[in-house]
Amino acid sequence: MNIPFLDLSRMEASLKVRLKKRFSELLDVGIFSGGKEVEVLENSVGDVLKSRFSISCANGTDALELALRALGIGPGDEVIVPAMTWVSTAEVVVMVGAKPIFRDTDADGLLQKDWEKAVTKKTKAVMPVHLYGKMVDMEDLTEKAKANGLFVVEDAAQSFGAFQNGKSAGTWGDVGCLSFYPTKNFGALGEAGMCLTQIQSLANHIRMLLNHGQPVRDQHESVGRNSRIDTIQAAFLNVLLEDFKTNQQKRKAIASQYLDAFSGIKSMRLPKGILESDHNAHLFVIQTEKRDELKAFLKERAIGTSIHYPMILPDMKPYLIEGDFYNARHSAKCGLSLPLNPYLKEEEVGIIIETTLKFFDSW
Ligand SMILES: *Cc1c(COP(=O)(O)O)cnc(C)c1O
Repeated sequence: MNIPFLDLSRMEASLKVRLKKRFSELLDVGIFSGGKEVEVLENSVGDVLKSRFSISCANGTDALELALRALGIGPGDEVIVPAMTWVSTAEVVVMVGAKPIFRDTDADGLLQKDWEKAVTKKTKAVMPVHLYGKMVDMEDLTEKAKANGLFVVEDAAQSFGAFQNGKSAGTWGDVGCLSFYPTKNFGALGEAGMCLTQIQSLANHIRMLLNHGQPVRDQHESVGRNSRIDTIQAAFLNVLLEDFKTNQQKRKAIASQYLDAFSGIKSMRLPKGILESDHNAHLFVIQTEKRDELKAFLKERAIGTSIHYPMILPDMKPYLIEGDFYNARHSAKCGLSLPLNPYLKEEEVGIIIETTLKFFDSW
């Protein structure tokens, strides 16, 4: 039996029927940019995440870039970014002409709490990343940001549906950015993203920037761009949102099985707090010194895994900068993502557990 890390073609037949139906309805309506589906998506996400303003856009990377632009961040400015994240977080800082300042993460891959030591006169913002679905301590981060007069742009691309003290990921910062990339826990059937903000003026600014700087049609107030969401993706997301809660329960149940099964393995570090509400169980990332051996062992037995991510940003050619980044480096070397998705069958979860235990028994 082959157990893929994630195979989106496995989505259940009844969901496929609903998606096809929505697609055929759209063909009859004939509106493929903007329209009611986009409005519904923004309102529904706003309701689910309790966000005042929810502005959909073309993808998560654009959402981050739009956030920085709307906040007026550009040349001469510095933005604090964790050394371990998906590349987008730093990429957008460079794209607006500012400089990413990398800080080490903690043992779980989240921006280390002493990040404010990197603040200089040039620092304009900090970008916490809720990596793997686990939220950064936002009470602490927003307080420090405020004390230093910094904007907070949350990279909530991996943390849709995580809540800390009743406030969702993406609603703590000045702007929070979501990605609906297909492999995320709330993913479209293509590219899509969203900015969340609780501030009216920022919401207006972001909406204007992503639509050619037009507050209203044919009135161009500033240089913008096109980063609108596809109507079709908004429509698919509206269907997929119906299953979100159930899928989250499945993720948490599998995560719980993994935790029970692996708690006795001394040479494995388990993801912290994955069953808590401030983790959405997007990824189940373990850490072990024998990561490469475990990955190969599972692969030989037809179990797919993934690495998020094998390289820290300061080691990448476009962002090259020397530094210790001890924890981030350790995560890159020892982190392994086990399959965790609603399409896994009970039997498959059993096999993943059994095979993993077998690997550690033999060491
Ligand atoms: C996926 C992701 C992004 C970018 O989202 P896209 O929709 O793929 O552009 C940004 N940051 C993080 C942490 C991500 O995981």
